[in-house]
Amino acid sequence: MGSKVHGKPKLAHAPGGVKSEPLRFAADCMLGRLARWLRILGHDVVYFHHVEDSELVDLAVREGRVLLTRDTRLVQRKAARGALLIHSHLLEEQLRQMVRWNRDALLAPQLCRRCLECNEATVPVEKSSLRGRVPAYVFETQTRFMTCPACGRIYWKATHVRDMLRRLRRSLS
Ligand SMILES: [Zn+2]
Repeated sequence: MGSKVHGKPKLAHAPGGVKSEPLRFAADCMLGRLARWLRILGHDVVYFHHVEDSELVDLAVREGRVLLTRDTRLVQRKAARGALLIHSHLLEEQLRQMVRWNRDALLAPQLCRRCLECNEATVPVEKSSLRGRVPAYVFETQTRFMTCPACGRIYWKATHVRDMLRRLRRSLS
């Protein structure tokens, strides 16, 4: 690391150098796709395929995470105060609800800062080291890449992410 990525300013990696701080969430089992998208948008999201309600609530409280749930009973628990009840089962509507809840954090995202599989914070990786490790088209068209220190997956700003953000912005304006 250390060398610059193609003339552009260095990826802000320094603490405090980021525009909006990533948020911390704990998502319930029914919100896998939303959890993934929140990670795409740079947020720290704990998600389990299977977890007891009480464990999830405890974890959210212990780690200061906003609990995201589709379960109306769960939000009524005293310990789950501050939880967000997600109304729709449709991903885009869920994201719209999140944006209405915190527009700044959701629409000024730090893309590619979280591993979608491990939820680890990613680190910048030099493009030149990636020849042959990402599809040729991606290598030609992208300038910035991030990698997960835990699993080695490589991330870039894919077009479907830009498209989703554009749709979200449009639907809210
Ligand atoms: Zn990973």
